[in-house]
Amino acid sequence: MSIPKTQKAVIFETNGGPLEYKDIPVPVPKPNEILINVKYSGVCHTDLHAWKGDWPLATKLPLVGGHEGAGVVVAKGSNVTNFEIGDLAGNKWLNGSCMGCEFCQQGAEPNCPDADLSGYTHDGSFQQYATADAVQAAKIPKGTDLPGVAPILCAGVTVYKALKTAELRPGQWVAISGAGGGLGSLAVQYAVAMGLRVLDSKDYRRWSTWCH
Ligand SMILES: [Zn+2]
Ligand SMILES: [Zn+2]
Repeated sequence: MSIPKTQKAVIFETNGGPLEYKDIPVPVPKPNEILINVKYSGVCHTDLHAWKGDWPLATKLPLVGGHEGAGVVVAKGSNVTNFEIGDLAGNKWLNGSCMGCEFCQQGAEPNCPDADLSGYTHDGSFQQYATADAVQAAKIPKGTDLPGVAPILCAGVTVYKALKTAELRPGQWVAISGAGGGLGSLAVQYAVAMGLRVLDSKDYRRWSTWCH
């Protein structure tokens, strides 16, 4: 498989500045990284915040946004043992972490003070080829529908984690605020798959009658 030297990307030079669709170099994976040929990418509201520079943590500049990329591994660094060329992989929000601090050692890598973030401190999925730390890159099983899985890499894991840590049991009720939105609609699907009963507006009216 031949990897080109340049690729198409959406990139901005300054926060809030023009979003340019242009040719940039294909990144070379570091020893711990894989190179993903991104086939599909979701767009998250965080991408808008990163472009505008809304948050106190500065973004890398110039920056390629995006952290819901799903694609195929086309190259890997010399230290990578958990991915092979041709595997499906995703570059998600947490691109890499130090793996040595207290948070990383407790499995709370998103809280790592040195976390490297796709589409924020690390060029993300709005390009044809993106690098990701092999330890944090999402492993996607062969045969997975890539356009379907792309939004799972941020929107999906966000609500899945919330439902998991809520420690509800099948048959229990769950209220999902913003259930009609992007994350909410995924949360409803996960909740149903977990055997939970999702509160809808009809139930809410019945309950508020009982309560008054
Ligand atoms: Zn996101
Ligand atoms: Zn760490």
